[in-house]
Amino acid sequence: MSQPVGRAVLAIAGSDPSGGAGIQADLKTFTAIGVYGGAAITCLTAQNTMGVVAVQPVAPGFVRRQVELVLADLPITHIKTGMIGTTGVAISLGQILRDFSGEIICDPVLIASDGQSLMEKHGMGDFLDNIVANATVITPNLHELALLAGTPVPDRAAIPAAVKTLIARFPRLRGVAVTGGHLEEHEATVSDFLFQPDCPVIVEEHPRHVTRNTHGTGCTFASALAAYHLLTNSYEMAFHQAIAFMDLLLRQSADHGMGKGTGPLLHHLAMGKS
Ligand code: PLP
Repeated sequence: MSQPVGRAVLAIAGSDPSGGAGIQADLKTFTAIGVYGGAAITCLTAQNTMGVVAVQPVAPGFVRRQVELVLADLPITHIKTGMIGTTGVAISLGQILRDFSGEIICDPVLIASDGQSLMEKHGMGDFLDNIVANATVITPNLHELALLAGTPVPDRAAIPAAVKTLIARFPRLRGVAVTGGHLEEHEATVSDFLFQPDCPVIVEEHPRHVTRNTHGTGCTFASALAAYHLLTNSYEMAFHQAIAFMDLLLRQSADHGMGKGTGPLLHHLAMGKS
């Protein structure tokens, strides 16, 4: 698939020096899929595959400056947000995102898989009001869905009501892609869900890959969804293609020993295959 001329995606996210998550994963995903990507950094993290050790936020005004300069110059049609980190950064981005008329795909990064918080304590309200409220698509896993909706999501049956709450509260949302990897973990399959206002839910069931190499899967899925939407202009096609991309990457990355902890996806192995 060749990229339409004059379209590009901007990731606004944290940096992961081990290369598995954050802007590093976003840019690798854009490149593997074949779209041009930029990256504005919200926070530096010090981490490796064994966990996040420290976070150094970027000054809110400087985050806004990065984004403003890119938007003033490049043909950005899609913004993908990841780790925002602080209330100050969330607030500094609110007006820019409100004024942006393209797609905003929000990966609601709140907690790392090792349990380390990736959003400032008490930052949820500002994150919701400034980032989620301006998103056209959000990509929560079950835990993130529960945090955003403020209601427990213990099983499959609880998902639609939680999503409905979000769609009612945030009228800009055109899609909620819920990744179901943490659902029914004993099952050999995983179900992912695409909710769109006034449309029947789309459920895609696919094989579960049992692997320790899952670092950055949330970032990669949201970036793939943004890239495929840029290429297809369709939420539904982007959803199916992003799932297929994850399936390929998880399979190809299943057996490597990159790092001593939760290993990354090897995005370069998907180059030209998606
Ligand atoms: N963004 C950054 C900078 C991170 O460090 C992390 C996790 O450590 C994430 C996002 C979320 O990663 P995942 O895609 O594994 O949920």
